[in-house]
Amino acid sequence: MGGKEPTYFLRARYLQAIQEAGGVPLVLPLVQGRAQQTFLLQRLDGLLVTGSGSDLAPRFYGESQQYPFQRMSDERAQLELGLSKLAFEHHVPTFGICGGMQSMNVALGGTLIQDIPGQIPTKIQHLQKKSAEKTAHLVHIEPKSLLRRIIKKSNMPVNSSHHQSVKTIPRSFHISAVAPDGVIEAIEADDHPFWLGVQWHPEFLYRKDVLQKRLFSAFIKAARLYASS
Ligand code: MN
Repeated sequence: MGGKEPTYFLRARYLQAIQEAGGVPLVLPLVQGRAQQTFLLQRLDGLLVTGSGSDLAPRFYGESQQYPFQRMSDERAQLELGLSKLAFEHHVPTFGICGGMQSMNVALGGTLIQDIPGQIPTKIQHLQKKSAEKTAHLVHIEPKSLLRRIIKKSNMPVNSSHHQSVKTIPRSFHISAVAPDGVIEAIEADDHPFWLGVQWHPEFLYRKDVLQKRLFSAFIKAARLYASS
């Protein structure tokens, strides 16, 4: 939501990735409140929580803002947090990308690093300057994770376009990938058919990288299974 005339923006590549994996994407309105969000969620077979240029206000995870960054609108934050929590409770397959993963984490009680350069000593550029279609660093994928079952490799190169990251996770979550500097790059949940968040942007890579395409294929497969159950 931005500008004087309220307008929705969403990169088309999120929708294309869902379509190319065999799904039918729906763009969601910024409905507020548990009743309306439940109504919306009951009509979905899966939830993709996309990234955005702005960040969650730290008050959502009990902190004051320590670094300068643009905060997303409260309407968008309430939608991402509310729908994520509902999707977790109702076992709706959920895939989070970049800021979407961070919302999935905060929705269930996790916290965020507000600024990687300020809070984590690292030589890795998590906010890459080159095109997002190029990869920036490796991630190590945990054995026995959902992510490992999808990717079937112990590490892979990813792009990196974030200055925040997951700090602490809720008790029912697992970390499923980390960068070589320890920055958390993927999270998932126990006792859920498909609950996966990645810190990178597979929607910029999947056309040339079959490993990244598998993320969308696995998500759509889980959504099909959920729809038929
Ligand atoms: Mn990164």
